[in-house]
Parts: sequence; structure tokens; C-alpha cells
Amino acid sequence: MSELTELTIKEAARLLRLRSISAADLVTAHVDRIQQLDRRVKAFLRFTPELWDKQADQADKRIKDGDPGPLVGIPMAVKDVLCVRGVETTAGSQILRGFKPPYTGTAMSRLFEAGAVMLGVTNCDEFAMGSSTENSGYHPTHNPWDLDRVPGGSSGGSAAAVAAGEAMIALGTDTGGSIRQPAALCGVVGMKPTYGRVSRYGLIAFASSLDQIGPFARCVDDAAITLAAMAGHDPLDATSSDRVGRDVLNNYGEGVEGMRLGVPREYYDVQGIESGVKAAIDQAIKSLRDAGAEIVDVSLPHTDYGLAAYYIIAPAECSSNLARFDGVRYGMFTEDAENITEAYMRTRRKGFGTEVRRRVMLGTYALSSGYYDAYYLKAQKVRTLIKRDFDEAFQKCDAIVSATSPTVAFPIGSKTQDPLSMYLCDVLTLGGNLAGLPGISVPCGMSEGLPVGLQVLAPQWGENVALRVARTYEESSGVKAEVAPLD
Ligand code: GLN
Repeated sequence: MSELTELTIKEAARLLRLRSISAADLVTAHVDRIQQLDRRVKAFLRFTPELWDKQADQADKRIKDGDPGPLVGIPMAVKDVLCVRGVETTAGSQILRGFKPPYTGTAMSRLFEAGAVMLGVTNCDEFAMGSSTENSGYHPTHNPWDLDRVPGGSSGGSAAAVAAGEAMIALGTDTGGSIRQPAALCGVVGMKPTYGRVSRYGLIAFASSLDQIGPFARCVDDAAITLAAMAGHDPLDATSSDRVGRDVLNNYGEGVEGMRLGVPREYYDVQGIESGVKAAIDQAIKSLRDAGAEIVDVSLPHTDYGLAAYYIIAPAECSSNLARFDGVRYGMFTEDAENITEAYMRTRRKGFGTEVRRRVMLGTYALSSGYYDAYYLKAQKVRTLIKRDFDEAFQKCDAIVSATSPTVAFPIGSKTQDPLSMYLCDVLTLGGNLAGLPGISVPCGMSEGLPVGLQVLAPQWGENVALRVARTYEESSGVKAEVAPLD
């Protein structure tokens, strides 16, 4: 394996500045690695050679001109729900096959301005609905640690690309756990920012009150650098906050000495948690205590209702967001219909996969008159209770620690026939989305030869706190994300 595909951003930036390597070399090393491995991993859906040539060239010019930006020349992969002008973007769905966005979303354009080089588009569950990337309308992605297992989802392609050394950083989206859970299952770092921290302009919406864009990386520093570059107010997204993006780095380098870290008993003993996962989390908690944190018991009493509330709210929002995909303005259109209504129906039946159709139906039902109060309104009330649980817990602690996923990566095909068991993958992550909190997953060892992730949740706008805990853990435990041994 080329060592260039194992570098951190800081190491790469140093070599680039010293001119020991060029941005073009860095891209070539990653493209070679992709060519060598991606037939097996299948992290990518498409590649963007026109972009990487141009952007690497620009990066080399910037370096020559003495531009010290940390992201100049850094190879990046982008999830298939994020629009980049002229690059086919399909949300992992057949219904959008051939769609080329006429504009670039804010998060991506900020990273491009910071000098990142786009390698290609990564696979995901269709419209980001899923926990394994098996709902992709194209093909499943394989976990680089065990190719017979899933990489998690929905941003499984991005997580797998970073874990396989095919990209240094990647972008994902997290609506119920879709950055943190695949990061955990692939042994990399993944962060979901506070709702409103990163502009969603240019993100193909799944559930607009929950979706956030965030980074994947192989260390906490790299995730922090990437997040800082894309965060901050954007007039093009009315839900984006006017806080400055660099807030995410405040006091970030300091340790956890004197910090109170809460362990919610409902998360610690969550249904279905594997003993190997629990052992790794116990070890991680111990290491944070050794690093000076005070560990306190907290409670999130409405945890049991979170899953049900999420699986009403997210489908309700998706049924509305996905109404626009009728074949007229975007992507696929079925011509052989008698009238326009039949054309819509045929296009949507043919273009959407099973899980998307299931969610659109569930969501439409939950919003329909007569059922709205019983389902949607009730779910929103539960959402408020869950938010209050977190508010109360954060009176007693500065951040919350738990497993990210109750299990390690599972075999491909093992949950596809049972949607409920797939939904249960998100029990520990979706509370953070319902409450709009920042959360990070950082590798914390292995169970049965597969990676386990430690989740750190912080109060709203406390990315710096979550990053600080994760970074201290990474440093003091010595557990580092490694490129999966695929060769
Ligand atoms: N797995 C969850 C779902 O299927 C979360 C998806 C996500 O965060 N995009 O809805």
C-alpha cells in the first residue's frame, strides 16, 4: 500500500508544503488505491477525473504561491445526496439516474474553496434511508474490515472509502445516525454537527428537520478541520445559524480534566447491545476517567419512545420532500402511460425502491387527516420530551458517552427481510437528531475482529466539547483509526 493513502491531513499538508509531494501525487496515490480495491469494496458510484485534475492543479499552484490552508490538495469523497454542479447526483436512487445538478451545495463549495480535491461520488442507501447501504438503487457496499459484512449506512460508501484508504476525508449526511453508525462499523471518525451548523443547501432532502451534513476522517483532528471549513451561516439555508464556523474548534485542544461525562443507563444497557461492544465501551470510559474526566450516571427516560417517534417524523417529512420526484423535472420518466397521473405513478413505482416506497406510504398515512393527531402530533410531542431529557442530563454532565451502535458490522443480507431489526441500528444515534445535538463517533477498539465506535454527544453548539472528548480519548487510549488491512 502506498503510504500516501495513510496520511492524516496534517502530515499531508506538511509534505505538500515541503514539496516532498504534490497534490497531483496525492490524488494519483488515492486513484491507484481505488483502482486496486474498489472492485471489492464498491464504495464509489462514480468518479470525477475532470474535477480532480483541475482541482489538484489549482492546489499545486496555491502551494507554490505559499498558501498554507490545511485542506489544500486533500482528496475527498462526496456522498451521492450532495449536489456538485455537473456531477451526476442520484441520492442512490434509480429515479434520479442521469440528474446533473446545475449548482454546487454550500458545504462542498466551501471545501473546494479551501482546496479539497473531489475524487468521486460515494454509494448510500436510497435517499439516505437505511443503516447498511443495502438499500442503494445500484449495489451494496462492502465493509473493508470484512467484505461479507455491511459498512453501515446510509453513508456507507463514504465510511468505507475512508476506511479503505481510498479517500482521506469524505462527506456524509446524518438524519438518524447515518454518519456516526457507518463510522463506527468501519472504524473511522464521523461527526454529525448541531442542526443548523452546516448549510443544507445542495443536500437532497430526506427529513429536513433532522438532516445534517458532516465529515468522515481517520482521526479527530481531520474531522475537526473539515467541519470548521464547511460550517457557518449561509443565507441560502434559512435553518443555518449565524454562528461562526470556527467555533467548533474553541478550546478543542484541551483535555477532559475536570469534565463531567454522563453515561445514560438507558443507552448503556440498550436492548440488543453485544457484550463485545459493551466491553469496548467500558474500556473507553475507563480510559476517559484515567484522563481526568469524572464519570456520572445520567438518565434519558424517554429513550424507548425515540425510535417510534423518529420512524413517524422522518417518513412524514420524506413523504413531502419526495413528492417532487415525479419524473417531470428530474431524472427518470416513464413514457408509456395513458395520462399524466398514470405516468407519475409508474415513474415512482419504477424509480423508487422498496424501502423508499414503504416510508412514503407510512409518512403519508401519518400525515393524513384523522391520523395526524394520533401519529405525527404525538411523535412531535415525544420529540419535545426527548429534547428535555437531554437538557436535564446536560445539567449533570458536559457531554454524554455511549456506544454508537449496539452491534458491530453485520453480514450482508442478514437484516434486509426485517425492517424493524434494521431500524434498531439507530437506537443510540437518533436521539441526537431529534434533539438537534452534535455527536461524534470515534473508533474504540475491536470486537470479534470488527471495529467498535464510541459516541460522544454534546449540548447544542457544543461541537468543540464533543471533539475535545473524542480527541482526548484518541490520544490517551492510543486507539487510532487504521486503514483496513485489505491488500
Ligand atoms: N438509518 C436511519 C434511517 O433509515 C437513519 C438514516 C440517516 O441518518 N440518513 O432513517
